[in-house]
Amino acid sequence: MELWYFQSYIENYQMGLKVKETLFCGKTRFQEIAILDTFLYGKTLILDGIVQTTEKDEFMYHEMLVHPAMFVHPNPRKIFIIGGGDGGASREVLKHPVEEVHLVDIDEGVIELCRRYFPQLGNWEDPRLKVLVEDAARFIKESDQVFDVIIMDSTDPIPRGVAEPLFSKEFFQQVFEHLSPEGLFVSQIEPPFFEPERVRKLWENLDMFPIVKVYWGLVPTYPGGVWTYVVGSKSLDPQKPLRKPDFPTRYYSPEVHQAAFTLPVFFKQLLEGK
Ligand code: SAM
Repeated sequence: MELWYFQSYIENYQMGLKVKETLFCGKTRFQEIAILDTFLYGKTLILDGIVQTTEKDEFMYHEMLVHPAMFVHPNPRKIFIIGGGDGGASREVLKHPVEEVHLVDIDEGVIELCRRYFPQLGNWEDPRLKVLVEDAARFIKESDQVFDVIIMDSTDPIPRGVAEPLFSKEFFQQVFEHLSPEGLFVSQIEPPFFEPERVRKLWENLDMFPIVKVYWGLVPTYPGGVWTYVVGSKSLDPQKPLRKPDFPTRYYSPEVHQAAFTLPVFFKQLLEGK
């Protein structure tokens, strides 16, 4: 018998993956978690019915989430990752000569299951990585630490979902205040084609940053296949990398970095409110 997983992200849309095996299916205090082994994308992490990470295309998302901001900062030493419990974002950050990476994810269940089922995804034993299980909104309110780069790798801002407060203007203000003078904040945002209003609202919510730019990249298993990221910067131009990778990459390059900020016309118009 054939087994399929169908994800419905918005009305009238479904994406299907043919499943080899269900490795885990359960619920934590915060969300439903499924880990499926799929024919096309390998092991796949699903939270509250939405694909978060697959073995096959996770590099596209994690490299593009992390490296643009990291290569724009001249000397990123102290990094804060919001969410990121699958380990992929911290693995990419740890390829840079950083001193400390603070990963704050609300759900211990995601961290434990990903360590078990996706051991290659994270670099959990690196002594520079400090993992804290807490609501990132609470952490930032109570912390007096300052970071060079803050990376938001959270679930989507679904209304009343666990990540919703992370996309508010109040939260972005806190992020701004916890960044060093050359600091950069980067966040994944929504698919511009399916969720134009949410993309625009998030972009507008970052107006405390003197420089805000949007860029995009491919992630085949995310709704629509095109994903967007937004960078808020205190002083540096997010489109201009100052350094190049001295480690192998599969998606990111300085050329891809610069090109990713060139937006299709409909997307530019969307941000301009046209
Ligand atoms: N790459 C994924 C995507 O965009 O599809 C997201 C990665 S997944 C690891 C996101 C993580 O954010 C989850 O582990 C979830 O527990 C965490 N998260 C959601 N809300 C959070 C909050 N308020 N504080 C900290 N972590 C949160």
